[in-house]
Amino acid sequence: MFKKILIANRGEIALRIQRACRELGIKAVMVYSEADREAKYVKLAEEAVCIGPAASSLSYLNMPAIISAAEVTDAEAIHPGYGFLSENADFAERVEKSGFQFIGPTPESIRIMGDKVSAKQAMIRAGVPCVPGSEGELPDDAVQIRRIAKTVGYPVIIKAAGGGGGRGMRVVHTEAALVNAVQMTKAEAGAAFGNPAVYMEKFLQNPRHVEIQIIADKFKNAVYLGERDCSMQRRHQKVLEESPAPGINRKLIERIGERCVAACKKIGYRGAGTFEFLYENGEFYFIEMNTRVQVEHPVTEMVTGIDIVKTQIMVAAGEKLPFTQRDIVMRGHAIECRVNAEDPYKFTPSPGRVTMWHAPGGPGVRVDSHVYTNYFVPPNYDSMVGKIIVHGDTREQAMARMRTALAETVVEGISTNIALHRELLVDAKFMAGGTNIHYLEHWLEQHKR
Ligand code: ADP
Repeated sequence: MFKKILIANRGEIALRIQRACRELGIKAVMVYSEADREAKYVKLAEEAVCIGPAASSLSYLNMPAIISAAEVTDAEAIHPGYGFLSENADFAERVEKSGFQFIGPTPESIRIMGDKVSAKQAMIRAGVPCVPGSEGELPDDAVQIRRIAKTVGYPVIIKAAGGGGGRGMRVVHTEAALVNAVQMTKAEAGAAFGNPAVYMEKFLQNPRHVEIQIIADKFKNAVYLGERDCSMQRRHQKVLEESPAPGINRKLIERIGERCVAACKKIGYRGAGTFEFLYENGEFYFIEMNTRVQVEHPVTEMVTGIDIVKTQIMVAAGEKLPFTQRDIVMRGHAIECRVNAEDPYKFTPSPGRVTMWHAPGGPGVRVDSHVYTNYFVPPNYDSMVGKIIVHGDTREQAMARMRTALAETVVEGISTNIALHRELLVDAKFMAGGTNIHYLEHWLEQHKR
């Protein structure tokens, strides 16, 4: 096992990884930007290295600074968390070339999955069902583009091969709008992701977002850890997640889970990963794979009892998975609410000094957050400041626990979206389960203020 790991991230996930290291008896080196100097998880760390100014491009995305921090502290491995450099194949490669273990898949796996066109092709070969669409990248020729769209059937969605974070997508309803939309998406994709390649998919009208968590070791052992329903989204960004996905046949989940495991074995995948699917009319359609730990991993941890971050570290160190598929039992129901520093209805970011932070507690309640009273939320990063996660024997109990937890939570000094979560947790349609990916946007439209 490693003796020392460098954590190349910030905020709640940096703290989450630090906790896993402590439990495993591993020393954690924290890196921080000047904006995060005062953060408690930095202060409490055995070792911490400043890697640059507040701007992420100069700190959390600064590869040479992170690698030299690992060198000067004698760390053996680097955990990238999520976001920042976590899905950057060049970073993974540089980490390994510098003699450190990257806690994640191989650079090749990241590269294949980071390009959504090659990811889809790999999945088709591995027998994972995908959204019908173009075979690979769209050509430039307008006639051919129209022909492909006709075969796929309108509405279609044009997606950037290098896209991420809900950006680089455009829905097209008619042939008249098609070619222009393709050109615009290409131009945007080139500018935003440095890769103008786009592809086409059938635009599913009312799907749910259901994803499968997997974890694999270096010996081609792979296991799926059930599913998460992340349909509650705003602007393609997840707001609330749960596991299991309400109302989906368990046999179907098992079949999809087994497909994902088979795909992992086929591509020699190692580490944690998530296969994202759209689910509509009883069918699963693969959309993309995330080759890292996800924000919503705690709901899976709550229902399976497996510590995903610890397991990531163990398999990166070359250990075998300590469990097999038969050992995985999903118990009860878990829900996660992402706490964002933002106006709950206008969604404008609300960074600043937190004058009061009172986290909820009690049975089945978990709070993953680096925030405390008097913490300053820097304006430079993502607005998510923590996650409230609950577990119950049933979905009803989990919802009741979440309502209690949200009622207990007090955050002053900044605005948060907790008020929105409180309303969603008493919404009849959400409570009934199975709402689709458009539900939250429609709800917000109806509850405009
Ligand atoms: P990103 O990497 O930017 O998150 P994804 O491919 O995961 O992109 O898609 C993000 C979201 O966009 C999905 O959760 C879904 O809401 C919507 N979406 C993507 N593809 C389709 C599709 N073919 N039909 C309908 N909605 C889609």
